[in-house]
Amino acid sequence: MERLEKIYEGKAKILYATDDPDLIVQYFKDDATAFNAQKKGVIREKGVMNNAISSRLFKFLEDKGIRTHFVEKLSGREMLAKKVGIIPIEVVIRNIAAGSLSKRMGVEEGTPLKSTIVEFYYKSDPLGDPMINRYHMRAFNLAKDEEMDKVVDAAIKVNKYLREFFDERGIMLVDFKLEFGRYKGGILLADEITPDGCRLWDKKTHEKLDKDRFRRDLGRIEEAYEEVLRKVMA
Ligand code: UDP
Repeated sequence: MERLEKIYEGKAKILYATDDPDLIVQYFKDDATAFNAQKKGVIREKGVMNNAISSRLFKFLEDKGIRTHFVEKLSGREMLAKKVGIIPIEVVIRNIAAGSLSKRMGVEEGTPLKSTIVEFYYKSDPLGDPMINRYHMRAFNLAKDEEMDKVVDAAIKVNKYLREFFDERGIMLVDFKLEFGRYKGGILLADEITPDGCRLWDKKTHEKLDKDRFRRDLGRIEEAYEEVLRKVMA
């Protein structure tokens, strides 16, 4: 499968066309951004690590029956994927309070939640990804109810499978962000699943093994991503 012209360049990935109109190449970059791209930097070899982590997790989820855009890992930084129309909604799943939830609700980071929280954010850089609910999706025609029922059902299953997967490897899945896309009348899990969009804490020490090390200048960022990669591949 050959990489043709660039279709889109995002903050952490570049998408390329291929000779098959239904397939794209996702190229993973080392660039990192935070706080709506106000903070910029590079995490050395992040692209290689994130492609490997994401490919492994998509394969795992496919084997569990989750429909994803993943086709195959092509090279260090390249993944072949189905060309979806991204639904402009970020789906955040939370098992433990952290980040914006801790701020909003005034609870300490690390507080376990009595039940899983599903949140939605409208994907818009100029607006800073505002939080929305299912009424906004209807009023602004962002997605159909039937589509969002499938999205939420898949997101909850993904949470169950990934929590178990990480737990077996000594990692707590605190929260994470998913994106879904439309493909030939169906809905596929798309984008990536990496420490860029997940909060992953060491089960014993609660050490952060994700992009919060970059956001909060905690150091040892590459080492944290390497540890996640090693454990995900185990
Ligand atoms: N997240 C993301 N992209 C975003 C916002 C959040 O991938 O634009 C992820 C983030 O890495 C975390 C989860 O979604 O795993 C919840 O993030 P939160 O709402 O707490 O926002 P933050 O504190 O990161 O600003």
